[in-house]
Amino acid sequence: MMLKQLTSNSPVVKDSAVVIGGSIAGMLAAHILAKHFKQVTIIERDRLPESPIPRGSVPQSFQVHGLLTKGALLLEEFFPGFLKQLESNGSFTGNFPEEFNVFWAGQWLPKFPSDITIYFQSRPFLEWQIRQRVKANCNIAFLTETTVTDLIASPDQTRVVGVKIQSQTASEILADLVVDASGQATITTKCLEKLGYPSPAITSIPINITYAGRIYRDPKNLAGKYQPVGINPMPHSFHRMGLFLPIEDNKWIAGLAGYTGEQPPNNEEGFLEFARSLAQPQVYERLKNAEPLTPIFLYKMPASVRRQYEKLAKFPLGLLPIGDSICKFNPIYGQGMTVCALEAKVLDRCLGECQSLAQLQRKYLRAVGKTIDTPWNLTVSEDVQYLASEASKLPLDQLSQWYLKNLFAVCLINRDVCLEFFRVVHMVKQPTALFSPRVLLPVLAYSLGLNRQRSLNPISAVNI
Ligand SMILES: Cc1cc2nc3c(=O)[nH]c(=O)nc-3n(C[C@H](O)[C@H](O)[C@H](O)COP(=O)(O)OP(=O)(O)OC[C@H]3O[C@@H](n4cnc5c(N)ncnc54)[C@H](O)[C@@H]3O)c2cc1C
Repeated sequence: MMLKQLTSNSPVVKDSAVVIGGSIAGMLAAHILAKHFKQVTIIERDRLPESPIPRGSVPQSFQVHGLLTKGALLLEEFFPGFLKQLESNGSFTGNFPEEFNVFWAGQWLPKFPSDITIYFQSRPFLEWQIRQRVKANCNIAFLTETTVTDLIASPDQTRVVGVKIQSQTASEILADLVVDASGQATITTKCLEKLGYPSPAITSIPINITYAGRIYRDPKNLAGKYQPVGINPMPHSFHRMGLFLPIEDNKWIAGLAGYTGEQPPNNEEGFLEFARSLAQPQVYERLKNAEPLTPIFLYKMPASVRRQYEKLAKFPLGLLPIGDSICKFNPIYGQGMTVCALEAKVLDRCLGECQSLAQLQRKYLRAVGKTIDTPWNLTVSEDVQYLASEASKLPLDQLSQWYLKNLFAVCLINRDVCLEFFRVVHMVKQPTALFSPRVLLPVLAYSLGLNRQRSLNPISAVNI
């Protein structure tokens, strides 16, 4: 195939696009690209299973994965009817916080109905449901059991024009646009240097988290009887987390995790003991009588990592990274898949608006950087508290910790404030909502001791 001679001012040619990686970010990117390009090829090194089972190159598949409300809404927008599809194929759906026992900030969250719906399913199930939708698109092709080994650049190295691949034989695929959704394999970073480009600034937060995941049978139909339960960690006191959640096929998934070096073990006794050591006993009480269906799988994540491609002065045209290949979030906050969906939205907007490759690259990288800023800053500000042995003494930190402490206390007694807070956590609202008068005023009143006695629901009403 002849290389197309294009300069940075050339219009974006929309014949063919290649996506490296067929996981969540890759499939969502391909879905968007298919609206703009005649042919999209997803290149995936794994054999993609015919059923919702974990696969080797996505080792986090064995771990508990929550889908934030914003992510769920975006999936529904991309694939109309998707949430009904999830529900009818077996996902657990419930109202938050009415149908979820959450121990958070040292208290049980009060129960009341809200506009937040939660969807629980295993990670392979969610990926598989998305794959069914993407496969149904006839201008998207999956090239599986094929590894991208390198990027192909134009002779002057200014743009990426395709990829080198290895399956049974080595070959090449040329494309008008290459999207890197290779996750932690980060093909882009590896290839930049080879092509003579600077590497992006990397920020890593050494959270040192270990997850342990295991699936259980639900012989007594617990889903009809018990609600999901989550015991959250708290800076300077509990660095351990535990979840026991209903998923598809009448199964439950247990997720235990330890921050800053705390590690759930992968042997029977140690796993149960870790569950017993959580701030509340409910996860342990359920686990000790449940029948495991899988071994205990561990996943260690030394750091959350962000690569700021948007700050690079030079970056090859025709190449756009997405998903974990840009930013691997601390998984405790459940943001990764939702951020992939937000970035796919950015891709859609930029492809619609940008006329040239240079404009597309500049706008896309900037907008993705901005998209990541909010969830990244939110979690980093929380993570640094876990990493510090004691609360910061810096005036600005003390002010924000004072505000958050009072805000968390008000969440437990004021329905509006509680919901507004969790809408921010679920990325449906921006963090600025936490400083709007409807939140700020009750928080200030609480700090002055004015509204403390108004309790939302007595703790005895919580179904644990
Ligand atoms: C323990 C843990 C728990 C998590 N919990 C949550 C949660 O509760 N909620 C949430 O939203 N997110 C969660 N996440 C994050 C979430 O898993 C990721 O954000 C999500 O998988 C998106 O990743 P991705 O598609 O960018 O990359 P990945 O899922 O890592 O996929 C990368 C894909 O690229 C393929 N690939 C790599 N290199 C090549 C190559 N050279 N050639 C061809 N193919 C290649 C791989 O085979 C793989 O399929 C969690 C993550 C971890 C680690």
